Amino acid sequence: MNGTWEQFAGNLAFVGLAISLWAHVSIWFRRMLAGYEKILFGVTAGGTAIGSILLAVEFSPGVYVDLRYVPVVIAGLFGGPAAAITAASAAVLFRLAAGGAAAFDGAILIALVAGIGMATNFLTRKRSPTFQDIVLMTGAVGVALIVAMLTLPALPVMGLRMAALNCVATAVCGLIILKTQHSELERSILVTAFSQSPDYLYVKDRDSRFVTVNENMARLHRCSTVDHMVGLSDFDTMTPHRAEELYYHEQELMRTGTPLIDSVEQMGDRYFLASKVPVRNTEGRIIGLAGVTRDITERTALERELRESKNLLTYAMAGMSDGFAMFDTQGFLLFCNEQYRNAFPLSADVRVIGANIRDILRRIIETRERVDLPCDVGEDWIEAASASLHRNKDEEIQLQNGDWRSLKTRLAEDGSAMVVVSDITATKQAEIALRLSAEQLKTLAETDGLTGIANRRAFDEAFEREAARSVRNNTPISLLMIDIDRFKAYNDAYGHPAGDQCLRLVSKCLIQSVKRPADIVARYGGEEFVVLLPETDEEGAAAVAEQFVFNLSQENIVHSSSEFARVTASVGISSAIGRILRGDPSALLADADASLYDAKAKGRNNILARRLTDARPPTKKAG
Ligand code: GH3
Ligand code: MG
Ligand code: MG
Repeated sequence: MNGTWEQFAGNLAFVGLAISLWAHVSIWFRRMLAGYEKILFGVTAGGTAIGSILLAVEFSPGVYVDLRYVPVVIAGLFGGPAAAITAASAAVLFRLAAGGAAAFDGAILIALVAGIGMATNFLTRKRSPTFQDIVLMTGAVGVALIVAMLTLPALPVMGLRMAALNCVATAVCGLIILKTQHSELERSILVTAFSQSPDYLYVKDRDSRFVTVNENMARLHRCSTVDHMVGLSDFDTMTPHRAEELYYHEQELMRTGTPLIDSVEQMGDRYFLASKVPVRNTEGRIIGLAGVTRDITERTALERELRESKNLLTYAMAGMSDGFAMFDTQGFLLFCNEQYRNAFPLSADVRVIGANIRDILRRIIETRERVDLPCDVGEDWIEAASASLHRNKDEEIQLQNGDWRSLKTRLAEDGSAMVVVSDITATKQAEIALRLSAEQLKTLAETDGLTGIANRRAFDEAFEREAARSVRNNTPISLLMIDIDRFKAYNDAYGHPAGDQCLRLVSKCLIQSVKRPADIVARYGGEEFVVLLPETDEEGAAAVAEQFVFNLSQENIVHSSSEFARVTASVGISSAIGRILRGDPSALLADADASLYDAKAKGRNNILARRLTDARPPTKKAG
C-alpha cells in the first residue's frame, strides 16, 4: 500500500470512528437532550465532513479526494432535515470559506447529497431504514457525484475513484448506525420486558448475589429501587434457614448446569412457581443464573376452588335420582352421571363423555330404543333431533322395554344444553290405567247392564246431539220406539229370567236391523227400546222397523199367552226434516210414542209411522 492509500485509510477511519462514536453516544444524548439530538447529530456530521476535507488525500497532483459527503448523507438519512441541514450548512460554509475555483460547485454537491439523505429519510419515515435503503441511497450518491463531476466544470475531475470511495464509506457508515440502532432496539425491548414483567425476574452471580432484578422483584423485597437489590443475596431478604436452602440448591444448579423448571415454592401464605436456568459466558462457563418466579397464589386458590366445586358437583350428581347430562354447543357430551347412562340401557355404551349427540341418536336408531321412532327414520331425523338439543323443551318418551322417560332440556347462557332425565314409568302407567278406567266408567255409565246396548242416558245425549245436527243441516231424522207385546204375561208365564233373556234377544234383533255406524239402539226403559236413525227419512225408518219385526219373527220365541203364540213387538215411527224440529226436538219423541200407542191399539205386532210436517201445529211448551 502506498502512502496515498494509507492517508485515505486514515480519512476513512476518521469518518467511520466519528459516525460510530455518534451512534453510541446518541443513545445517551437521546435520553438526556431529547429534541436537540438531531441538531447535535448535524453538528457532529458537519464537523466530521470538515475533518474529512481537512484530511483530504492528494491522489494525483491537484486532485484531492475526501469523504465529506458521507457524514452529510448519513445525517440526512438517520437525522432527517434538521441534522442534514445543520451538517450541510457547516460543510458548505467551510468549503466556501476555504475558497478556490471549485468552492461554489463543491458547496452545491454537498447540498445535493444532503438532499439525497433527506429524501431517503422521507421515504422511510413510517418505518426504520433497512440495508436495502442504504444500498439505494449509496447508489444515488454515486450517481449524483458522477453526474455533478461531468456537468459542473469547475469541479476538478476526481473520476470514478472519488465516487466509489464515497459510496463504500457511505455503505459502511450506514451499516454501523443501522447495527447500533438494531442492538439498541433489542436492548430496549428486553429492558422493557424485563422491568415491566408481572413475574419476578432476576439474575444472580456465581455467589448467588443479585446482579439485576426487575421492578416487581424489588417491590417484593421492599426495596425502593432496583439498584438497591444489586449485590444483596437471599440471606439479606429471607430467613437464614430458607436462604441457606435456596443457596444450596442454586449452587448445585450452577455446579451441575441442570435447570430448575416450574418448581412450586411456598413463602408464608403465598405460592410461587419458580424456574432457574444457568447463565453461561461466551466460553460456555457458568457465571450465574437467571430466575423467573411467578406468584400463583390466586391461581392455586382458584384451582382448589374449582376442584372442590367439581367434587361437590360430582357428589351431588351421583346422589340425585335423576339422570343429568350436559352437551356443549357442538353437541358433544361434556358431563353425565351414572343415572343418565342407566336411564337408556340400549344406548348406554355410547353415552360417554366426549361422545356426540349424533352418535347417540344413531345408536338409538340401531337398537330402536325409542318406540316413537318413525318407520323411515334416518339421517334427517338425526339432524332434526340433534338441532332440537339446543332448544328448551320437555319431552316424554317410551322405551322399547315399556319404560317411560321424561327429558327436560334447558339451555345455559353459553349455549350448552343441560338434560335432566327422570323415570316416569310408574306415573305414566298410573296415568294410562286412570284413563282406561275413566273410559270404562264412561262406557259403563252409558251401557245398559242387562242387554249391553246403550242406556237411556246415552240415548238422551245422542238424541240431543243428533237432533241439533239435523236442525243445523236441515237433514232428515227418524226415531223408532219399540214395545214388546204382552210382556207382563210373558214374565208371568215363563218367569223373570226368561223375560230378561227375551229382552236380550230383542235387543240383538234391533242391533242386527240397523246398518249405519251412526244409528243408535238403546233400551229406553223396561221392555221398551228406541232406535235413533240420523239422516234417515220415513222410508228408511220403515225398512229398519220391518227388518226388526222380521228378525224377531225369525227368533220365534214361544209366548203361549200371546195371540200370535210367539213374542212380538209393536213399533212406532216418527220422522222429520231438520227445520221442522227447530225449537222442539222432543216432538219427534212424542210422535214416536203416539205411533207406538196407535200400533198397540191396532192389535199389536204392528208398525205405524208418523211424519212431522209444517202443517202440524207446534207442540205447546210447558209454561
Ligand atoms: P202391552 O202389550 O200392552 O205392552 O202389554 P205388556 O204386558 O207388555 O204391558 P207393559 O208394556 O206395561 O208391560 C211391562 C212389563 O214388562 C212389566 C214388567 O213385568 C216387564 N218388565 C219391565 N222391565 C223388565 C225387566 O227388566 N225384566 C223383565 N223380565 N221384565 C220386565
Ligand atoms: Mg211397556
Ligand atoms: Mg209391553
